[in-house]
Amino acid sequence: MKFGTKAIHAGQEPDPSTGAVMTPIYQTSTFWQASPGKHQGYAYARGKNPTRTALEKCLASLENANHALCFSSGMGAIDAVVKLLQPGDEVITGNDLYGGTYRMFTKVFALFGIQFHFIDLSDANNIKSYINDKTKLIWIETPTNPTMQIVDIAACAAIAKANNLLLGVDNTFASPYLQNPLDLGADIVMHSVTKYLGGHSDLVMGALCVNDQSLYERLAFIHNSCGATPGPQDSFLALRGLKTLHLRMKAHCENGIAVANYLKNHPKIEKVYWPGFTDHPNHEIAKKQMRGFGGMISIVLKDATLEDTFKFASSFKVFTLAESLGGVESLINHPATMTHASIPKADREQAGVVDSLLRLSVGVEDIEDLLQDLEQVLDQA
Ligand SMILES: *Cc1c(COP(=O)(O)O)cnc(C)c1O
Repeated sequence: MKFGTKAIHAGQEPDPSTGAVMTPIYQTSTFWQASPGKHQGYAYARGKNPTRTALEKCLASLENANHALCFSSGMGAIDAVVKLLQPGDEVITGNDLYGGTYRMFTKVFALFGIQFHFIDLSDANNIKSYINDKTKLIWIETPTNPTMQIVDIAACAAIAKANNLLLGVDNTFASPYLQNPLDLGADIVMHSVTKYLGGHSDLVMGALCVNDQSLYERLAFIHNSCGATPGPQDSFLALRGLKTLHLRMKAHCENGIAVANYLKNHPKIEKVYWPGFTDHPNHEIAKKQMRGFGGMISIVLKDATLEDTFKFASSFKVFTLAESLGGVESLINHPATMTHASIPKADREQAGVVDSLLRLSVGVEDIEDLLQDLEQVLDQA
């Protein structure tokens, strides 16, 4: 089956008890047992709930994975991956990570004796000199947030395989419509379902997708033991969102191209970060591993102070100033004080997250309105 058909149908059968075509919201914490231990596959809803099962099957199908697990947030999903490790283990990861991931690694798991190396992954070969016998996991994001660097997933996977390490990929920015890391050799794909998968900015959820049976069993054990599992209402909303993922992503990509090209040569813009430009340093890798370039674009304003940048970000009529991304509505974000505020200023600026950088999540509104909105703000600037 092709992508759109899977997004609409995978994991979803008419409900066996009533014939309901849409997966019901099984609002129950517990399930009847005919005699102790004899149940219909569901015992207690932290472990398993039928609404969540349908969502997990659909997500697994979209990532070409054998298994998926849904979590109560994207951070809950990453937390479960790190819990595969033990004190003394080491992780190699990027220096341009989602702020919340950086915070969890440095402020939570570092205290449990896990060591993290934050390195430049624009060339995957940089990984090699950080590998030693304590290294267990390579954790990457691509495109990165917010400077849209591209990391070569297949090259990272080859290094991981050769050294018997796990490779995890945060695929939130691309979504499975544009990129399938397991097909490129990754072991774990992670999503903040909150973003493109849910697609309507109305839920918080995370997911992991894997192929390997024993890795799945270890993660499922952590999932149930630690308990960051989502409820049936949110699972239903995510399933509903997935049904239009292919339609939305197509529109995000088209609007992304138009906005990136509009901004590229604008005299008031210093720099535009978007992997679709042929002069993007890793454009060839982006073309190789992605089926489109998405709707995430970052810009640096020319000669703008923090005050100018705040004024600019607050002057839009269609774009909304808010955290998050990937919804149908266009958002604008100031990473230095919003999503990336937990990263020390020096580290942040070294990764390109300067005070005059803004991140756009280009939505699926009519492109004429988005371009007009950008124009009126740029005219005032
Ligand atoms: C939002 C986000 C996360 C965290 O997900 P939550 O659902 O907010 O917990 C992780 N990685 C990336 C790239 C994100 O954008």
